[in-house]
Amino acid sequence: MSIIYHSTRSKEISLSASEAILQGLSPDGGLFVPDRIPALPKSLDELKELDYRELAFEIMSLFFDDFTKEELSGCIERAYDSKFDDPKIAPIAKVGDVYYLELFHGATIAFKDMALSILPHLMTTAAKKHKIKDEIVILTATSGDTGKAALAGFSDVPGTRIIVFYPKDGVSRVQELQMITQKGDNTAVVGIRGNFDDAQTGVKAMFHDEELLKELSDKGFRFSSANSINIGRLVPQIVYYIYAYCTLLKEGEISAGEKVNFTVPTGNFGNILAAYYAGRMGLPVGKLICASNENKVLYDFFQTGTYDRNREFFLTSSPSMDILISSNLERLIHVITGEDPDAVRKLMEELSSKGSYTVTPAMREKLGLFYGGYASEEECAEEIRRVFEDTSYVLDPHTAVASSVLRSYRKETGDNTPTVIASTASPYKFTKNVMKAMGEDCEDKDDFELMEELSRKSLIPVPDAVRGLKDAPIRHTRVCDRDAMRAEVGDILGLSR
Ligand SMILES: *Cc1c(COP(=O)(O)O)cnc(C)c1O
Repeated sequence: MSIIYHSTRSKEISLSASEAILQGLSPDGGLFVPDRIPALPKSLDELKELDYRELAFEIMSLFFDDFTKEELSGCIERAYDSKFDDPKIAPIAKVGDVYYLELFHGATIAFKDMALSILPHLMTTAAKKHKIKDEIVILTATSGDTGKAALAGFSDVPGTRIIVFYPKDGVSRVQELQMITQKGDNTAVVGIRGNFDDAQTGVKAMFHDEELLKELSDKGFRFSSANSINIGRLVPQIVYYIYAYCTLLKEGEISAGEKVNFTVPTGNFGNILAAYYAGRMGLPVGKLICASNENKVLYDFFQTGTYDRNREFFLTSSPSMDILISSNLERLIHVITGEDPDAVRKLMEELSSKGSYTVTPAMREKLGLFYGGYASEEECAEEIRRVFEDTSYVLDPHTAVASSVLRSYRKETGDNTPTVIASTASPYKFTKNVMKAMGEDCEDKDDFELMEELSRKSLIPVPDAVRGLKDAPIRHTRVCDRDAMRAEVGDILGLSR
């Protein structure tokens, strides 16, 4: 029986996987969810013998069951190739008594590459399947890393265009340079005067703007989303949690069936949700430790059952987690309501009208697998310094938030279950903050000097992904106010107004 994708907000919409990937977001504002979660296809002892691509095929074929074997394996081969600088794709570093699952070996040295290197192939394959002639326009809001990873994934992919909006003053200089130097005639990048939530709200509004959608289709375009709400991003992320478990099993660090905790530095709740799905498939998952930075809206939610975005917004040294609306949480809310689309819709309407909602005690009880924690800016910096001093291993600030939260969690609970930390970015993406945390004098030095210094200190070469940025020509200079995003899209695509 094949898997059907429904919206979290209604049962009326039923799509196949390829249709859900093409649409990205449901027209009713909901997110697509599978009508059931398939079980692991083989025993862990069998799965541990597979390499990353083989495992990816085993897992993705369960969810994307309307792709043929050839179609799916073609997508996987094109995604997980030599763009990754480690043949394991997602290697594990054992450092002290934790395991860092390094998800930053792809083209843009952040974990978004894990899904965004395959999404363009899934999308264009799906479009071919459905004989769609329209050009696919990827419209994306980014807090920094998604944008570049999506640009890199879609650049010059025939039949696609990509437009990325990012908060002009809310990303690191290296992140910004990565985006505005992006090559590819089908790429556009726009800085907005606002924060990530403004960008995401603006993008979501365009997906529902009937007039705009009509204009697009008249011109032979159709929107899709590369944001982490697309099921074509979520499913590829399940793979590396299973791969991590299998790696530990294979290396004799754990025994089959033994539980493993995962600690995930969280923003939009996509990465940790994939870990949750892996658990639902039958992976022995202990706790899912959801780590936030000072924008601790998720921590408060797990503490109190109230999700409240009405609060001060902080720009932190882990900008990809500077988020007050964690879109993918809606999929977990869908689960804890007992898959009741009316209840989900009501809560999400409250979120958009008053900025908050509270789940019932019965719903809260179903969140027991999750533990919410957060780290302040000082704790994050302290973690980078301490781990480097103790082990010579260098953490990026996002990973350091997770590492710090795990440290507090262990102290508080005494839970010493083997734990994997999702290591979401290379320290070279956030060199200045990393070097500052390690006590280096960073005044008057640019990111590129600091990269060389970090390389000397850590003995890890500067990755190619950032080395060439210094002299790369700037190709994108658009900046707009948050209420002018639609006009920018019209201008980029040459729509008449
Ligand atoms: C996107 C991102 C995160 C947050 O992941 P979500 O899936 O949005 O929760 C954490 N760290 C880095 C480096 C990221 O790029």
